[in-house]
Amino acid sequence: MAHTHAPVDAPTRLRGAGLRVTAQRVAVLEALSQTAHAAVDELHESVQREIPGIALQTVHGIVNDFTTAHVAQRVSLPGASSALYELARGDNHHHVQCIVCGRVEDVECVVGAAPCLTPSDAHGMRIVEAAVTFRGICEDCE
Ligand SMILES: [Zn+2]
Ligand SMILES: [Zn+2]
Repeated sequence: MAHTHAPVDAPTRLRGAGLRVTAQRVAVLEALSQTAHAAVDELHESVQREIPGIALQTVHGIVNDFTTAHVAQRVSLPGASSALYELARGDNHHHVQCIVCGRVEDVECVVGAAPCLTPSDAHGMRIVEAAVTFRGICEDCE
């Protein structure tokens, strides 16, 4: 029951982020928009169907560019075998991860406005974001 984000207009999104539009970047962005959370090697695999021979290192570079330009963001998950990326949504959503199969789904803000959680001691910092990972067992694994 993996969800997918709405299709993106890749060239418009790239231009809007100040990135040069290339066939490789468009293919990576489309692959990223079709999988809710993807590792770089998964993106590489699906982009290869469109651009045979594209190097894994090239996909890594593109994902880094996307992250810097806030087109994509890294999903920080404790104990994940590889980094997962998703389209930047500009929100403060969280993730729920199955501890058996590793499936990851989005969880919307838990109590309304970001950052969703109030730390017991912010150590004088103005909190702008909270990253929460719920860990569980999905219905397929149960
Ligand atoms: Zn599972
Ligand atoms: Zn997400």
